[in-house]
Amino acid sequence: MLPTIALVGRPNVGKSTLFNRLTKTRDALVADLPGLTRDRHYGRGVIGSKPYLVVDTGGFEPLVDSGILKEMARQTLLAIDEADVVIFLVDGRNGLAPQDKVIADRLRKSQRPVLLAVNKTEGMQRAIASAEFHELALGDPLSISSAHGEGVRDLVELALEHF
Ligand code: GDP
Ligand code: MG
Repeated sequence: MLPTIALVGRPNVGKSTLFNRLTKTRDALVADLPGLTRDRHYGRGVIGSKPYLVVDTGGFEPLVDSGILKEMARQTLLAIDEADVVIFLVDGRNGLAPQDKVIADRLRKSQRPVLLAVNKTEGMQRAIASAEFHELALGDPLSISSAHGEGVRDLVELALEHF
């Protein structure tokens, strides 16, 4: 089984943008995996000669307890469960949000290795963009830009270094 990276974070932080960048290969899409749903989107990526699976999630709304949002939160928890490592995306332009703290707590309980990635930091000073996210206590935040590809390779290499 390939190492599996789950992309987790509140809506609009850039998970799908990162997913698309990581899976931009000819045979990226993995169809027919058990558990495939609208809210967990599987793809294949390769870094160097190392293949991996990446799971996009539809959004994490732990503060909302009804209907579709509850189902999306459930799917995200399942994605965390089946992941070998989690990339937790936050938004360096909007800054730290209350939902980020809820997700961080959940991730700490998951016992999965977590990399905290501060997205949308193109054109920003990395240290300044990431400073406030130290508060999440998930290690050193890594500044990236999913849209521009900055920091993405380093992030994935770190995520997979033990696989
Ligand atoms: P998701 O809801 O977490 O899957 O987020 P999306 O990937 O759909 O992105 C949400 C919005 O953020 C879209 O308008 C993206 O174009 C934008 N976005 C994603 N990554 C970046 C980035 O690195 N920089 C900037 N400036 N915008 C980004
Ligand atoms: Mg998305």
